[in-house]
Amino acid sequence: MNNTITIALSKGRIFKETLPLLEAAGITPKDDPEKSRKLILDTNHDDVKLVIIRATDVPTYVQYGAADIGVAGKDVLLEHGGEGLYELVDLNIARCKLMTAGLNDFKPGSGRLRVATKFVNVTRRYFAEQGKQVEVIKLYGSMELGPIVGLSDLIVDVVDTGNTLKANGLKPMDHIADISSRLIVNKASLKMKHDRIQAMVEQMRKAVKV
Ligand code: AMP
Repeated sequence: MNNTITIALSKGRIFKETLPLLEAAGITPKDDPEKSRKLILDTNHDDVKLVIIRATDVPTYVQYGAADIGVAGKDVLLEHGGEGLYELVDLNIARCKLMTAGLNDFKPGSGRLRVATKFVNVTRRYFAEQGKQVEVIKLYGSMELGPIVGLSDLIVDVVDTGNTLKANGLKPMDHIADISSRLIVNKASLKMKHDRIQAMVEQMRKAVKV
């Protein structure tokens, strides 16, 4: 394991809302990922780098130690399972809810429901806990389309204002989990680079807005 601390982040909302927390830990990126095509960003510290990756890949990079630290949504962490990493701080950013949704006139029939989602593990677990047998259909985006075109009866997706559901004639139904982004750390990194990571984590923890 080298001496660099690598932090995995996704572009967009998470990057923007994590910036002030990184600043609180004295870390300033040298590039803006929205403008640069670089996947590895230097910071004001030679031994701190940022890797800019897909949100769903962040727990995987941290699990395998390719990144020491990461910021990932609880939705992504629930789906990943959390092996090999510690979830240390609720950063209270990118808040939303994981919910089921269906057409406005949805009525449960007697047959097995079809549920379209990118969160297949979470969805299987949720319906199993409810004692309901469902068929889960994996999609990679635009889940709202599922019930409209008859691909599925329900979807499981993250909902913020609910405007996207509404605009597509869908209604939010069951609440599965409250979502926000979490600071995650590779288990081995926390041991090997304990003091530096612990200091960084504490500075970010203090900067979290409640
Ligand atoms: P909404 O405000 O409910 O219309 O959300 C707009 C879209 O953004 C939805 O399709 C969600 O999939 C997505 N979204 C909203 N909040 C989040 C979040 N915190 N993390 C990831 N995706 C989100």
